[in-house]
Amino acid sequence: VRIVRIIHERSTLDSVRVTGGEPLLYPPLPELIAEIKGAGIGRVTVTTNGFLLKKRLPELLHAGLDAVNISLDATTRRGFEEITGGRSLSGVVEGIDAAAASGLLTRINSTIMRGMNDSEILPLLCFAKERGVTLRYIELMSMGPLRGDLSARIVTKDEIVKIIESEYPVWPIERSPGETAQYYDAGGYRFGIIQNASDPFCRDCDRLRLDSQGVLYGCLSDPVGQRIENPSGEEMDAILLRALAQKQRDRFLGSDLSMKHIGG
Ligand code: SF4
Repeated sequence: VRIVRIIHERSTLDSVRVTGGEPLLYPPLPELIAEIKGAGIGRVTVTTNGFLLKKRLPELLHAGLDAVNISLDATTRRGFEEITGGRSLSGVVEGIDAAAASGLLTRINSTIMRGMNDSEILPLLCFAKERGVTLRYIELMSMGPLRGDLSARIVTKDEIVKIIESEYPVWPIERSPGETAQYYDAGGYRFGIIQNASDPFCRDCDRLRLDSQGVLYGCLSDPVGQRIENPSGEEMDAILLRALAQKQRDRFLGSDLSMKHIGG
């Protein structure tokens, strides 16, 4: 929170996303959210696997949580169990429904992998649409254990759009600068694709990542972070400039960093 506060004071930082691992396993998460909000941050989002969401939702709402991203890669019990190694789908669905019913901005993130869950592209859209929540498909990224040639496994945004076009007319929606997803209209429903590989958004990427050890990363392509101890304002400015200089001009280059470590 100390680091968030000083970055907020020295920059335009106004949105913080708490990721993991799994942040809902962290007992003092509501206190953390309340402290981040208290540091002047306008929007705090949590990214979660959703298993504990229904149970912990009241305390998160009370703390001032603004939005939640829930990972869901399949809508069938069998498909979900295969991808998650046997976890129960119903708990996640209950979490999504509880979040949506509470009025919290609720988004589903679905990473699509060829031969694994590409048959779920339309079912995921129907699932999200009937609940009135936003769905964002994610193109697979060459990171951590997935580092390497993903051409056989990646399902591109063109393939995703083509499949949805078999059911709905699909139109791209103008993208706001810094937005990770390209949004589309599908017959009146708005969905997004995080097109890391097909159409990277490096040109206006403004994300920074801070790990649990206080190490700041300016770009997913660069595994070298900067440890932040107790910087003065000027030192923080210099750290931020170095972090922003890490950003790529055109595209993600692949990284040994793991999403589990650095946050999705
Ligand atoms: S590769 Fe780096 S600059 Fe490009 S979108 Fe990812 S984090 Fe941003």
